[in-house]
Amino acid sequence: MFGKILIANRGEIALRIQRACRELGIRTVVVHSEADTEAKYVKLADESVCIGPPAATQSYLNIPAIISAAEVTDAEAIHPGYGFLAENADFAERVDRSGFVFIGPTADSIRLMGDKVSAKQAMLKAGVPCVPGSDGALPEDTKEIVRIARKIGYPVIIKAAGGGGGRGMRVVHTEAALLNAVNMTRSEAQAAFSNPTLYLEKYLENPRHIEIQVLADSHRNAVFLGERDCSLQRRHQKVIEEAPAPELAAKLRDKVGERCVEACRKIGYRGAGTFEFLYEGGEFCFIEMNTRIQVEHPVTEMITGVDLVQEQIRVAAGQKLRFRQKDIQLRGHAIECRINAEDPYKFTPSPGRITSYHPPGGPGIRVDSHIYQGYTVPPYYDSLIGKLIAYGDTREQAIRRMRIALSEIVIEGIQTNMPLHRDLLNDSRFVRGGVSIRYLEQKLSQEKSKPE
Ligand code: ADP
Repeated sequence: MFGKILIANRGEIALRIQRACRELGIRTVVVHSEADTEAKYVKLADESVCIGPPAATQSYLNIPAIISAAEVTDAEAIHPGYGFLAENADFAERVDRSGFVFIGPTADSIRLMGDKVSAKQAMLKAGVPCVPGSDGALPEDTKEIVRIARKIGYPVIIKAAGGGGGRGMRVVHTEAALLNAVNMTRSEAQAAFSNPTLYLEKYLENPRHIEIQVLADSHRNAVFLGERDCSLQRRHQKVIEEAPAPELAAKLRDKVGERCVEACRKIGYRGAGTFEFLYEGGEFCFIEMNTRIQVEHPVTEMITGVDLVQEQIRVAAGQKLRFRQKDIQLRGHAIECRINAEDPYKFTPSPGRITSYHPPGGPGIRVDSHIYQGYTVPPYYDSLIGKLIAYGDTREQAIRRMRIALSEIVIEGIQTNMPLHRDLLNDSRFVRGGVSIRYLEQKLSQEKSKPE
């Protein structure tokens, strides 16, 4: 096992990784920007290194600065968390070449899955069901593009192979709009991702977002740890996640899970990963794989009892997985509300000083957050400031516990999306379960058009 790990991230996930390390008896180095000097997890770490000014490009994305911090502190491995450099294959390669262990998959796996065209092709090969679409990248020939779209059937969605974070996508409803939309998406993709490659997919009207968590070691062992339903989204950003997915047949989940495990073996995948699917009409359609730990990993931890971050560290150290598929038992239900520092209805960021903070507690409640009373949320980064997780024997109990936690939590001085969560936990459609990825935006736009 490693003696010392460098955490190349910030906020709640930096604290989460630090806790995993401490439980494993591993010393921690936290790198931070000038904006995060006062963060509590920075002070709790065994060592900390300031790697630059607030702007992420000069600190959390500054590869040479992070590598030198690992060198001066004698860290053995680097955990990238999520976001920032977590899915940057060049970073994984640089870490490796500098003699450190990247806690995640190989640079080749990140590259393969980071290009959505090659990812889809690899998944089709492994027998993972995909959204119907073009076989690989779109050609230049306009007649050919029209023919492919016709074959798929409208509406279609044009996607950039290098896209991410909900960007580089365009929905097209008619043939008349197709070629213009292709041209626009191509130039946007070139500008944003330096990669003009596009592909086409059938646009699913009302799917749910269901994803499968996997864990693989470097000895070709892999397991899946059930699924998560992340359909409550706004602008492709997840707001509430839960596990398991309401009213999903366990048999179907297991069948798709086994395909994902097979795909991991085929591509030589190592570490934690997530296969994301759209689920409609009783069918799973792969859209992409995330080659890192995800924000919503705690709901899976709650229902499996597996500490995913500790397992990431173990397999990065070369250890074999400590369990087989039959050892993974799903028990109970977990829901996560993402706590964002933002206006709850306009969604504009709300950084600033937290003047008062009372965290919730009680049976089945978990809070993953780095905030405290007097903490100042810096304006430079993502608005996520924590996650509230409720576990229960049943979904009903998890919902009841979450409602209580939401009634107890107090965060003052900044605006948060707590009012939205309180509203959603009492929304009859959400309480019934199984809403589609369109539900939240439809609900919000209906409320907006209601007279005051
Ligand atoms: P990103 O990498 O930018 O997150 P994804 O491929 O994961 O892109 O897609 C993000 C979101 O876009 C999905 O969660 C879904 O809401 C929507 N989406 C993607 N593909 C389709 C599709 N074929 N049909 C309908 N919606 C889609």
